[in-house]
Amino acid sequence: MNFQHKDNEYDYVILGGGITGLCVAYQLIQRNKTGRKILIIEKESKLGMHTSGRNSGVLHAGVYYKPGSIKARVCTKGVKRLSEWIEKRKININRCGKIIVPQENSLENQLVVLEERATQNGAKVSFIGKKEISKLVPCISPNIKRALWSPNTAVVNPKEVISSLEGELLELGVSIMRDSRCKIMDENRSLTVNNEIEVSYGHLINCTGLHADKIAKLFGAGMNYEILPFKGIYWKLSNKSDIKFNTNLYPVPDLNLPFLGIHFTPTGIDPLSVSIGPTATVALGRENYKGLEDFDIKVINRSLSVILGQYISNKGNFRGYIHSQSLLLIKSLMMKEARKIIPSIKDNDIVASDKVGIRSQLYDKKTKQLVDDFICESTESSTHVLNAVSPAFSSSFELADLILDKLMD
Ligand SMILES: Cc1cc2nc3c(=O)[nH]c(=O)nc-3n(C[C@H](O)[C@H](O)[C@H](O)COP(=O)(O)OP(=O)(O)OC[C@H]3O[C@@H](n4cnc5c(N)ncnc54)[C@H](O)[C@@H]3O)c2cc1C
Repeated sequence: MNFQHKDNEYDYVILGGGITGLCVAYQLIQRNKTGRKILIIEKESKLGMHTSGRNSGVLHAGVYYKPGSIKARVCTKGVKRLSEWIEKRKININRCGKIIVPQENSLENQLVVLEERATQNGAKVSFIGKKEISKLVPCISPNIKRALWSPNTAVVNPKEVISSLEGELLELGVSIMRDSRCKIMDENRSLTVNNEIEVSYGHLINCTGLHADKIAKLFGAGMNYEILPFKGIYWKLSNKSDIKFNTNLYPVPDLNLPFLGIHFTPTGIDPLSVSIGPTATVALGRENYKGLEDFDIKVINRSLSVILGQYISNKGNFRGYIHSQSLLLIKSLMMKEARKIIPSIKDNDIVASDKVGIRSQLYDKKTKQLVDDFICESTESSTHVLNAVSPAFSSSFELADLILDKLMD
């Protein structure tokens, strides 16, 4: 794979300039310091315009994931590496920790499951009682007697991370083409960018997030999978609100589903500005951030038929989940949920936020289930990252290494 490089010949072409693509490029350089040529092709005019720039910015410590899963393996180590990388570059990081609280008494035993998972995954957690909980969140419900405390959870502004990583990659000699669409001709390991530039490559790495399944299929990979876009809408605490705290406040999630529940997150930009969300409802298109933007009837039909199937089979209480998520779009019902954790919260404490993100949730057509873990498939000339959902941001350096281990096997 080592060419005598001509102008548009690259050892590696990475499609997609989100956190996954950038970290793969970074780790390729760490492994091959001897002049491998790397090109990142991004369809947007700026990097981080999609999931990587629109997430909650939480650096997850590795609490939730099933021990032995890839998520569990990469999150605990990955978050440590990303936090250190961020600190060295003096990017703002709010090391505010996280508490996970049972929103109903019946969920208390789930805290124990989470504690066991975290311990097995190597993530530091401890149980805390009423006094410590109310020190962290003074307005917490008096019904909450016990919570799980994760001191190593932090929050960043994801856009700052992307921009710093981009700058460093350019300095390290990685080429980045923005505003670039390409036509792939894999038979001869080549592609045409914007109908004019012919690029050839040794290996192509597909990190296109919400579009990864479509690209993979062009290479004959990921044939059993399809991405279902799930939209995450956020609210935020009004700056006039008296409710103030500086930690991540999460409910106990439904551990059968790949979503963490609506949480309160101090933003990475201003620690006292707290976002609330995200919901997880069907998106009208892969990039349907508002209104009918990118409306795609095929995506909607597919998502609705899958959701209907899951709803009827009710695997993992999917029905209950859909009910609760649909209700959360209505402010009064969202407030009802929020009051289970913070009873004093009033309607005017919460205002709509313009923050919206879309999850590239993978669906397995064979097993008819939403895929929980990260998936990566390879052909001789290409590697495809297919389910880069949360915590792919937190885990990015470690996930990149795992992708490269597979590629270099
Ligand atoms: C609402 C929400 C909240 C989240 N919160 C967290 C969190 O707090 N912590 C956490 O760890 N994770 C979180 N995640 C998950 C995390 O954001 C993602 O796992 C991660 O950003 C995925 O990065 P990516 O690079 O794979 O995808 P993306 O960031 O989507 O990047 C893919 C890139 O590929 C480009 N692209 C697509 N098609 C093409 C093409 N044909 N040619 C060239 N370029 C192309 C796109 O323009 C895009 O820039 C959250 C996700 C969502 C949706």
